[in-house]
Amino acid sequence: MSKCYRSELVGTFGNPIDENPTGVVEEAAFAAKGLDWRYITMKVEPGDLGAAMAGMRAVGMRGLNLTIPFKVEGIKYLDKLSPAAEIIGAVNTVVNRDGELFGENTDGKGLLKSFADNGVSPKGKTLTILGAGGAARAISVECALAGAKKIYIANIIKDQGEELVRLINERTDAEAEFIFWDHAIAIPEDTDILSNATSVGLYPNVNDKPNIDYDTIKPNFVVSDVIFNDPRTLFLAEAKKRGAKTINGLGMLVNQAALNFQIWTGVEAPIDVMTDVLRKEFNL
Ligand code: NDP
Repeated sequence: MSKCYRSELVGTFGNPIDENPTGVVEEAAFAAKGLDWRYITMKVEPGDLGAAMAGMRAVGMRGLNLTIPFKVEGIKYLDKLSPAAEIIGAVNTVVNRDGELFGENTDGKGLLKSFADNGVSPKGKTLTILGAGGAARAISVECALAGAKKIYIANIIKDQGEELVRLINERTDAEAEFIFWDHAIAIPEDTDILSNATSVGLYPNVNDKPNIDYDTIKPNFVVSDVIFNDPRTLFLAEAKKRGAKTINGLGMLVNQAALNFQIWTGVEAPIDVMTDVLRKEFNL
């Protein structure tokens, strides 16, 4: 009987990438499901993405994660996009379907799953999103596609924030409005879900928090954060103090990793194993 010594390969291209924990989570999931798959975390220099994508095709990698700074640039090397990835204009997951590269964005979908796990739905709700970068685009578009009624986008750079507002208004059924974030802004009173989608609070700057008027957070708000390192952010601590329900960035991270696992392998992700590994990584 012949034995197959060839493993299936997935991985991530990013820069910086050294502190990205996704590989540990995916490898634990492959092991738990008895799959001979490997996940390699790779640093790609800016300007080398085209060569890296050609290499990925050449060695028949089954899929990829694209992370900072390649989520937008990566699109030009793909053959097809999911409808949401096309609207968001960024891809974090690539699957190789017999040589055809398909791009998806699981960032916002991961947060929606984390919301659902906490009994929260954006349907018919008003959201205030802090930031207008990649994560904010994914979250706001997915929430709009999931039936959110209204989305406020607060951003320091006016053009970037207004561009996202235009995108939501033109490409989804939600109504979007821009908030110029040039001071400690008040969170709109009609907010149901407040979501930090900025990088404020990310390790090593764990003592930073978004510059908002925290006393405008009400007990009926659901407050979520994208920051997963460390997930115990000051932003969420302040929201909790005001009686709001809080959802940290770990759920988003593990759920998008689980979605990626399923997209690549077609096998249901062992979400409990993945969550445990991540908790251990962050000493939680
Ligand atoms: P980007 O660089 O695309 O966006 C960062 C955003 O943060 C921009 O809107 C930027 O505004 C804003 N920002 C930065 N500093 C400040 C500040 N001091 N005050 C207000 N706004 C600020 O990054 P991403 O969107 O890709 O990632 C954002 C964060 O989300 C990262 O920390 C990342 O680790 C996390 N993330 C978490 C995921 C998860 O699964 N939990 C998944 C994906 C991302 P401006 O452009 O105006 O400067």
